[in-house]
Amino acid sequence: MYQLIDGKAISQQIKDELKEKVEKRKAQGEEICMAVIQVGSDPASSVYVNNKKKACAYIGIQSLAYELPEETTEEELLGLIGELNAKEEVSGILVQLPLPGHINEEKILLAIDPAKDVDGFHPVNVGNLSIGRPGYVSCTPAGVIQLLKRSGIEIEGKECVVLGRSNIVGKPMAMLLLRENGTVTVCHSRTKNLKEITKRADILVVAIGKPKFVDAGYVKEGAVVIDVGIHRNENNKLCGDVDFEDVAPHTSAITPVPGGVGPMTIAMLMNNCVEGVK
Ligand code: NAP
Repeated sequence: MYQLIDGKAISQQIKDELKEKVEKRKAQGEEICMAVIQVGSDPASSVYVNNKKKACAYIGIQSLAYELPEETTEEELLGLIGELNAKEEVSGILVQLPLPGHINEEKILLAIDPAKDVDGFHPVNVGNLSIGRPGYVSCTPAGVIQLLKRSGIEIEGKECVVLGRSNIVGKPMAMLLLRENGTVTVCHSRTKNLKEITKRADILVVAIGKPKFVDAGYVKEGAVVIDVGIHRNENNKLCGDVDFEDVAPHTSAITPVPGGVGPMTIAMLMNNCVEGVK
């Protein structure tokens, strides 16, 4: 029987731990404040932004919401980021992606002070991760590490295969597994003999953005499988990059979708906000 890794419960545990820390800091007169910027009114972005604001409220972090109109110019947004960079009381700045087409996302992300980059997307933070220096780490892969650790799954010495090499999931995931002393292989769309490689994995992290792509044929008997993917299927139900029903019986532990990696992203964002002000 496999272990179902409960991301909902683990993320709640993390949020409760953070809430306690924030209460203690408040008692010492320290406030944590995060700026959340949304440009335009994309409904999916509004849901994410609201969830982030709710999590801040739960933990006791003050959130400054900037809901800017779709026609906001790049210069105006850069101006706001400059102001927030300079404000001592703002400890974290989050710009909800995607931005409208007329704004250069890279330029915006580069403008955020790396010391306030709670998403961990700034090249300074990416670089710090790759050379083992402290810095903000991208929230989703950081959440995967917490899921493994808090489920009692050892990473050290394990064959870890990451399926996907995006800048926000695959690459930082590989770096984090390496930091935990895993032996890491990264696969992508040009990888040859994909199944042979994924079947070597003791820990398989799947982030390829293709619904139910990974079936039992990709998985070694007894492996741990972490599914980062999130999609809506033809019946409007959520599913991952892994065919859960097919794969789960062959694993020793697996994350479901929903309720696996998903809830961890916001929990780790909150963790970045709280730990970042240390
Ligand atoms: P992405 O930027 O589209 O990257 C997908 C990666 O998979 C790429 O590296 C690509 O290779 C590789 N790939 C695609 N098709 C492949 C194939 N047939 N064989 C092998 N590799 C293949 O996606 P992402 O942003 O990393 O996100 C991945 C998934 O995670 C998505 O479903 C996304 O919605 C989800 N996600 C969830 C969370 C969360 O909070 N739970 C957060 C972020 C993302 P190339 O580089 O060669 O193109």
